[in-house]
Amino acid sequence: MAIPTLTDLTTPQPTLKTAPVQEVFSSIQGEGIYVGKRQVFVRFAHCHLKCAYCDTPMTSPTGQCHVETPPGSGIIEYHNNPLPPETLVDIIQSLLKTAKHHSVSFTGGEPLLYHQFLQSVFPQVQGHCKTYLETSGTQADFLESVLPWTDIIAMDIKLPSATGEAPQFENHARFYAQAKGNPATECFIKLVFNQRTTLAELAEVRGIVTNRQTPIILQPETSLTDRTVSILPSQVFAAENYLTQYFDDVRVIPQTHKMLNVL
Ligand code: SF4
Repeated sequence: MAIPTLTDLTTPQPTLKTAPVQEVFSSIQGEGIYVGKRQVFVRFAHCHLKCAYCDTPMTSPTGQCHVETPPGSGIIEYHNNPLPPETLVDIIQSLLKTAKHHSVSFTGGEPLLYHQFLQSVFPQVQGHCKTYLETSGTQADFLESVLPWTDIIAMDIKLPSATGEAPQFENHARFYAQAKGNPATECFIKLVFNQRTTLAELAEVRGIVTNRQTPIILQPETSLTDRTVSILPSQVFAAENYLTQYFDDVRVIPQTHKMLNVL
């Protein structure tokens, strides 16, 4: 058995029914097919992957859940982690009252690491607003337990040229098949790509995404240092031209929330 560290002894650990949440805030969706829509965002801590382009700190600066309220004010309310579902639902409901929202985005980190917790949260959120799951798209078994209460899935397909990690294509194929198992759930694909991305990687996407009407979003990688996009226009067109041969709805959308300088 591993010897507990001092942090283990002083920090309450998440259980199946609680989860570490970094922050909850109301903002504008900056990626994917719902870009520009107002959402409440719930950002979970931690992820099982290590994408090279990841811009998300894996815990909040204080280890607590930070809630910006009112939205855009910079005024932060703190809640001790891990949160029980009822506390998170109360926070979401209070933010939903501040404006008309399209949906509640569960993001991270990887929200599906806390799928048992989400089983308690999603049905309660659906009584007020749509649920939007932003995920690495690699854990089909975890998705199964929340799929009946998931309105929208923003599913990543991780390209090794961008992540710097081993391929996840088999996991993505299982995940996509699971997601398509609920016709009421809308699913779209997000591909972060860069100048090293190959047509062979995009060919893998064809094999995974069997429904040709599923929207495919090509998201040029944003630099972690200066927030610029360095891919050449010719490389963007090459990727887009390739995918439009096989899919009906291919769009190129960079991360727009970074231009707006919002959370
Ligand atoms: S899956 Fe998302 S949160 Fe996890 S390492 Fe990759 S970019 Fe970061």
